[in-house]
Amino acid sequence: MIPLKEAQSHVFERVTPLRAMALALDECLGLATSQAVHSEESIPPFDNTAVDGFALHFDEVSAAAPENPVTLPVAGTIAAGDPPRALPRGAAMRIMTGAVIPSGANAVIMVEDTEEAEGGVRVLRTVRQGENIRLAGSDITAGALLFPERTVLGPVHLGVLASAGYVKAPVHRRARVGVISTGSELVDEARPLRPGEIRDSNRHSLRAIVSTTGADVVDLGIVPDDEEALRSAFLGAAAELDAIVTSGGVSVGDFDYTKKVLRDISKGEMRWMQVAIRPAKPFAFGLVEGIPLFGLPGNPVSALVSFELFVRPAIRKMHGHSELFDPTLMVRAANAYRRHPDGRVHYARALLSAESDGSLSVSSLEGQSSHMLHEMARSNALAICPDGDGYVLGDMVEVMPLGPAAPAR
Ligand code: AMP
Ligand code: MG
Repeated sequence: MIPLKEAQSHVFERVTPLRAMALALDECLGLATSQAVHSEESIPPFDNTAVDGFALHFDEVSAAAPENPVTLPVAGTIAAGDPPRALPRGAAMRIMTGAVIPSGANAVIMVEDTEEAEGGVRVLRTVRQGENIRLAGSDITAGALLFPERTVLGPVHLGVLASAGYVKAPVHRRARVGVISTGSELVDEARPLRPGEIRDSNRHSLRAIVSTTGADVVDLGIVPDDEEALRSAFLGAAAELDAIVTSGGVSVGDFDYTKKVLRDISKGEMRWMQVAIRPAKPFAFGLVEGIPLFGLPGNPVSALVSFELFVRPAIRKMHGHSELFDPTLMVRAANAYRRHPDGRVHYARALLSAESDGSLSVSSLEGQSSHMLHEMARSNALAICPDGDGYVLGDMVEVMPLGPAAPAR
């Protein structure tokens, strides 16, 4: 067995960010910038009002108070989108949020601090110079760095880029990831099972989980344990896609032709690992025609745990991310996890929840066998239990929250 860290390094060293290109902002969610991005424009582009009210010169109302209102004539109305105007001396102008401050004005009084008066507006209090004015460039100045290279673009980033005038952004392009199930026992049809058959669950959960990384998913179907079928499926996928995720056939069974085929088509580069973890001990990785192929174990729970430890971070790297993992948490155990020393780190399916005082706790679930997918559906985290005898209630445990349930785009 090899330590998880070693297996992960082997994989991540062989995966590289995909080609940098300019993509329309709508295509960029979850991708990382391939270079630093600067703003050519100031935001806001002009001085504008933060409130609905009256633009004026603050000196004109320096004596205003509720018991001593100052009345100014109103010299017009400025709406958002109107071209710049000029404020006549001794007057005020009605102005709407976002509208350009007229030249000659240096404050805006909120409509709530005024009353309508015959021929003008009655101002009930003083204003400070600059009050309620959002200055040009106060969010971003022209030329400023918006985002350094390798910034992962989320919804807020896309809004910032749009506000600075970008219609495209320089990013590492999105991965196209193919998902294959291997195994002659697998069925994905609405018909009763014949003896020995089982339903293909992996392709459904793996396609869904790949989509949560933001990658485009390509369904490559079920391939039986047959040398020729496997060879053509893998080679066909490698010719068109950026990565292949396959499940089944990577352990030590007699009919695991997957191994033989992968050894051939990867020109001996494919590596079978026995990773010192439970579940998900068997794992294969190699480059087929330069394309990473992740050989996940067939057991459904193992396949998904293996995905979190190897595939999600690798896709992040392809998308240009610099942080391949989310931080783990240290959380109080709400139950005990009993185990025996077996040379492996256990990734126990667990439920992370909030106590009544707002602190987090983690409970490991009953069924920890690697075929118990139904039990895994109740989990939202993996509790990491180092080799040994387990932990007891109240211990602090390292927890890996499981990835987002919804698509990243
Ligand atoms: P293997 O890794 O091919 O030896 O498979 C290990 C176990 O996982 C066996 O019980 C398989 O029947 C099961 N298995 C393999 N592929 C799938 C799949 N796509 N969906 C559900 N179970 C699977
Ligand atoms: Mg199999």
